[in-house]
Amino acid sequence: MFDAIIQCQLPDLFDDGVDSVLDLLQGEVGASGISVPVAVPPMAYLRRSRTDAPRVARSRGGLYFHADDGRYSQTRLRPITADWLKGRDPLDQAAERCRSRGLALWLEVSTTLTGRVATRYPEAATKSVYDDRSPIRLCPVNPDVAEWLRALVADVSQRFSPTALILSDLHTGRRESGVCDVSNGLAGGGGAAELLAICFCESCRQVAARAGVDTEAAARAVRTHLDEALAGPARLDKRLGLFVESLDGPPFLREYLDAQRAAVEHVLHEAVRACAVPLILHRYSDEIWPVRTGGLPSASGLVQMRDVDLEAATTELSRGAADCIRLELSDCARLQPPALVRTLTESAERGVRSVELIHYGTATRADLHIAKQAIRFARRSA
Ligand SMILES: [Zn+2]
Repeated sequence: MFDAIIQCQLPDLFDDGVDSVLDLLQGEVGASGISVPVAVPPMAYLRRSRTDAPRVARSRGGLYFHADDGRYSQTRLRPITADWLKGRDPLDQAAERCRSRGLALWLEVSTTLTGRVATRYPEAATKSVYDDRSPIRLCPVNPDVAEWLRALVADVSQRFSPTALILSDLHTGRRESGVCDVSNGLAGGGGAAELLAICFCESCRQVAARAGVDTEAAARAVRTHLDEALAGPARLDKRLGLFVESLDGPPFLREYLDAQRAAVEHVLHEAVRACAVPLILHRYSDEIWPVRTGGLPSASGLVQMRDVDLEAATTELSRGAADCIRLELSDCARLQPPALVRTLTESAERGVRSVELIHYGTATRADLHIAKQAIRFARRSA
């Protein structure tokens, strides 16, 4: 069986009516389930399907459900509820409707970007080599963040009993993993943005030092090359992996990144243990220092592909690191309708078990029609 999951933002589901959205996705498009982000980064998007709700959907992010406060009594970070929710708790209703229709329900938790948490708890945020704290991203290596995440995963998975829980935004060694809000002005090439994103917070320095890494030397290597790239005209176009390999002298930076990744993997293991349902780790197909799920029972991988580049994801799939793929539906469908059909069909032939298409709110009726064809062909090939 090839599962097709369509992501729905909770406000869209309720503005358009849970039952009519589910009728459309299950009955007409042929989806086997929906995914719903519930610990959500800030976002804004244009609603492209016909809707009586506001055309531009905006949210400062936060939790899209009322947390069970008792579960966070021991955590220093406390849940922050999305302001649009007010007194309602629509997630219960969505979960109940999915159950009664036999639809799968994946709930998604952002590990590091959930709205406003990093602003409220700046000491738990990532910190660049220049000591600049991110206003948007938490460092997962920070023990307070890890503890909050465990409580959150247990809360969501036990109370709403989803089919699976997706853990996203748990990345190391990529520009998205750090202070990306300032890297737009960075003229130093792609590698410079990745260096700027490496976290040098107290927790990261501590885990590296405990692993015997010379953290000062690692920070110096990053700072020296960033200073040069910022001063120009030299550009740092090498991606992080190649850059690390090209450094002269002892491999301080590689050891630092390895120690950081090991700490993040420990956080992932703890989250898996706290999760009452199968856990799916989201990753990008072009990650350089990917967090590994290897050996974890009841954890699998979800690869987000850029465009419809099947080859890029195939390596992950063949290594057994992932068996689901995520695609931006409106991009794929609008740019290359036959490519979406081909990608899903070939993915199913290669053993991919499920696809997650994002997302209902930005898809047109035409996009959904192409999705329907692609899902039908993929199921025949599975
Ligand atoms: Zn850190």
